[in-house]
Amino acid sequence: MTISNELQSAVDAVRRASLLCRDIQQTLVTEETLTKKDRSPVTVADFCAQALITLNLIEADPEAAVIGEESADELRSPDNSELKDRVVSLVQKKIWPLPAENDVLDAIDRGCAEGGATGSFWTIDPIDGTKGFLRGEQYAVALARLVDGEVVLGVLGCPNMPVDPEKPDGEKGCIFAAEKGAGAFQIALSGGEPSAIRVSDETDPARAVFCESVEAGHSAHDESERITRHLGVSAPPLRIDSQCKYAAVARGQASIYLRMPTRADYRECIWDHAAGAIIVSEAGGAVSDIDGKPLDFSLGRRLSANRGVAVTNGALQTALMDAITASAAV
Ligand code: AMP
Ligand code: MG
Repeated sequence: MTISNELQSAVDAVRRASLLCRDIQQTLVTEETLTKKDRSPVTVADFCAQALITLNLIEADPEAAVIGEESADELRSPDNSELKDRVVSLVQKKIWPLPAENDVLDAIDRGCAEGGATGSFWTIDPIDGTKGFLRGEQYAVALARLVDGEVVLGVLGCPNMPVDPEKPDGEKGCIFAAEKGAGAFQIALSGGEPSAIRVSDETDPARAVFCESVEAGHSAHDESERITRHLGVSAPPLRIDSQCKYAAVARGQASIYLRMPTRADYRECIWDHAAGAIIVSEAGGAVSDIDGKPLDFSLGRRLSANRGVAVTNGALQTALMDAITASAAV
């Protein structure tokens, strides 16, 4: 399978950031951080991943505009000099020629673009699923490119996803990627050849694997339970943090990913969906919001015209939308 140079560079950038995040998760997330609810490992990994990816992007395109979740304000404060030194030295170990401290901080600050309906933007979620990261579970490093409000390329680094969903205890660490019109593929984080991925061909909702957030604060579990009952889904929900849910649907491991809003005024961030959405679409699936509207990435940093998300293998999309409507009417 052929991959454009641009997608290959994006995959390389996500791979480097994912490997660094994996090291940080394995070494810094301990029993102690969990019990003390100490978020420092995720803070370090967030900044490092955004800096690494942005430095890679601006090497290829010095003018690249970036919409990232993080800014370096916190790191520039004299109170946080220890944190700043840690982030800078971890990034410096991964980039050659060695970037100066200010280049690392400026790279993080490049993430302040507003996005919108015209122009080209990259959007980065350096660690999507921070709660999963801290629990030692699933999280994703997400990168996507938007042109004139449309996602044209997306990459997800998923350091804890099994390479083979049939072998959950086997090798872990996957990269998922897609480019508009060119299909979607998976590649092991450790390297090797890309292999094309495809959504499941399940047409019977009763046999569908349904996934949703682990966090009930991010997706209303009680509402999705009602909806899956309407659909007749028989298996318990597969709860996974981050855009790994999109990856699970894209490779046929699950057939539905539903995100029911927990608050009427919450609007999803574009970096939480851009990469995952194109990977599912290019793998043959369907992506909309819970009202059946396409996700509109042309409105800035948030999906301000959409509510939640409803993602399927395509074959189950109509049944899912019908169940959402029926369940709301009860
Ligand atoms: P997940 O791992 O699927 O639970 O999603 C993680 C993402 O949820 C984070 O990156 C946040 O941006 C996003 N998030 C934070 N608060 C909310 C909320 N109230 N509703 C939906 N998503 C949220
Ligand atoms: Mg996120």
